[in-house]
Amino acid sequence: MNSKQLSRRGFILKLGALAGAVASGFNSVPAWAAEAVAGRLTGANLTGTADKLNFLLQLDAPIAYKVFTLDKPDRVVIDLKNTTMQGKLKQGAHDRKPITGIRYSERDDGSLRVVLDVAEQVAIKSSLAAESNGHLLTVSLNPTGKGSSGNKPKKPKKSTQESDKSDSPATPAPSKGKFIVVIDPGHGGRDPGAVGANGTQEKEVVLQVARKLKARIDREKGMKAILTRDSDKFIPLRERMDIAHKHKADLFVSVHADANPSTRVSGSSVYILSENGASSEAARLLAESENSYELKFGGRNTSDKIASVLLDLSQNAMMDRSLSLAKGILNELAKVNNPLRRRVESARFVVLRSPDIPSMLVETAFISNPTEEKRLRTAEYQQKLASAMFQGIKRYQIAYAESGQANT
Ligand SMILES: [Zn+2]
Repeated sequence: MNSKQLSRRGFILKLGALAGAVASGFNSVPAWAAEAVAGRLTGANLTGTADKLNFLLQLDAPIAYKVFTLDKPDRVVIDLKNTTMQGKLKQGAHDRKPITGIRYSERDDGSLRVVLDVAEQVAIKSSLAAESNGHLLTVSLNPTGKGSSGNKPKKPKKSTQESDKSDSPATPAPSKGKFIVVIDPGHGGRDPGAVGANGTQEKEVVLQVARKLKARIDREKGMKAILTRDSDKFIPLRERMDIAHKHKADLFVSVHADANPSTRVSGSSVYILSENGASSEAARLLAESENSYELKFGGRNTSDKIASVLLDLSQNAMMDRSLSLAKGILNELAKVNNPLRRRVESARFVVLRSPDIPSMLVETAFISNPTEEKRLRTAEYQQKLASAMFQGIKRYQIAYAESGQANT
């Protein structure tokens, strides 16, 4: 297996070309945990931080799997029984700590082996959860702080389906069972966002709307909201997403106010992420504009480092969830004002690139429209927007609870 060579060239390879390329240490592999149904790997993503990185594998069936570590060099091996790959996987070097490389192979026994090369020893946990349209295998990697473990051969660690209770480094863990909504008031600090003709700043009004939305959510039993910022400060887009991951958010809602050169344009609009082209030119331009503030005011742009989307996913369970949430919110907002568009649009919004958290961006109204600018400043209108968003979120949460799924 020549993964280094692959990575240097940045190849994206079709799977078949790699059949037979395997990691060593097969003899010490644990037995299959369960009898297997056949399935397909339909997606893979990385989320989280270097302290706790989650490798998420989307599967279309509850396949049998095993996860274990090997050393010299340190690596994590994920074997998926009776599993084939749908699509392509980006292989090769990876700079998402502690992962330094990713490779895989289809094995003679019909299993699919994914190998994560890691820079140091990691503790692993894994769990398989049913999703609305498939199954999600989560493999968590926690660096142990130890380096590579010398010459002593190490027994592979078997990881069965166990719950994940042991991570709460800096922040208090959310109380179990609560539906966590992370609300992200756009912009802040030196980044004012869009500015109305009368000087109203997007960062101010969206914070006020977000606070009202949080208050409403917190009044609801079983729900809890967290703001990415509750003051006038600048936060890079990546940090906003990290806050959502840290709190194990069930939803991420970024709140904004739109602007247009024409002062007549008005209304709300709702967006989700699309990595493969925008749903319209207007949506593309909006995403470009929202993404550009970070570079303009933060001096850097984290966009290309954020999500490691390893597979081209056409059917991503999280996207379906994001869309269903976004539709619900758009319907509710349509009762408050005339929506700019009747359908949810999508584009490459950096702040929405959390593959494991349903995420959406709401443009509440046009700050460039004098009437809407005036309204946006009033507590009454802010409350209406917050209530509409809450209704959409609540509806989604009920549907989500009824489906019995946990976003682990
Ligand atoms: Zn904005």
